[in-house]
Amino acid sequence: MFTFFTQTARGADGSLQTYVADALRRKVAIGHFNISNLEGFWAVVGAAQTVSREAGRPIPVIIGVSEGEREFMGVRQVRALVDSVKSKGFPIFLNADHTYSFDKVKEVVDAGYDSVIYDGTEQSFDDNVASTKQCVAYAKKVNKHILVEAEIGFIGKSSKVLDAIPEGVQIGPEFLTKPDEAEKFVRATGVDMLAPAVGNIHGMLSGGKDPALNIDVIRAIAQKVKKPLVLHGGSGNSAEDFKAAIDAGVAIIHVNTEIRVAFRDALIDQIKKDSAQVAPYKIMKPTISAMQKVIEEKLRIFNKMA
Ligand SMILES: [Zn+2]
Repeated sequence: MFTFFTQTARGADGSLQTYVADALRRKVAIGHFNISNLEGFWAVVGAAQTVSREAGRPIPVIIGVSEGEREFMGVRQVRALVDSVKSKGFPIFLNADHTYSFDKVKEVVDAGYDSVIYDGTEQSFDDNVASTKQCVAYAKKVNKHILVEAEIGFIGKSSKVLDAIPEGVQIGPEFLTKPDEAEKFVRATGVDMLAPAVGNIHGMLSGGKDPALNIDVIRAIAQKVKKPLVLHGGSGNSAEDFKAAIDAGVAIIHVNTEIRVAFRDALIDQIKKDSAQVAPYKIMKPTISAMQKVIEEKLRIFNKMA
């Protein structure tokens, strides 16, 4: 039995934890979509509402903001935006994506984020354990419902279109997260969720085809750590890979790069089409539908509707 489920039974209804546990039970994944601007925000909201209508039930979504993205939008401003649409019928959550220091973790915990990812992957195993523990202790003291995620194994840092596998990332089986090490890490730190290195990469390869995920490793880690797994770097992976990863224990999937590409392409298109236009809301509008389309497609796959 997942320890996560036991906690959830005692947890508050409507918390992110409840939805993650529900996703594990249903064998679907919650989509995590990064945003950099208001257009991205409306794209996620529009996509979630469209796919919820199709599903006949509310489809939960997570908005993610990295350190750079939330510096651009405002840490508390993003929280206010998500709160402005959140309701019982619209479960939308806010995650602080890759956060590299305790101070930055503290900032988002204090701002009321639903979850935070502390990323100590560039430290040694022991240092990563120690600093992750410090983040967990602070987060839970301030907000007992907050979920803390950590990562072991390096999958690169960018959300860009890449020409090759990112430097420092190795995807041979010997470089993937080891189930025993993952278990030791989770037990030592008390994190709620784990992002493993399972053949995924941050960013996506040009040509749109990323290396296949190692489903056996995902399953082995999930069985060992008994916590929901989070798949990062979901841009460029196939629908089949996603579904198999979900069945093996993945409860949240991150997508960023593909949304960024859709934004950039739509923006260039629009400016070329109407270069005399100066109204920002007219210039930016097509970027919303372009991003929304990508997000809708992912949500249908993650919820096994496509
Ligand atoms: Zn990530």
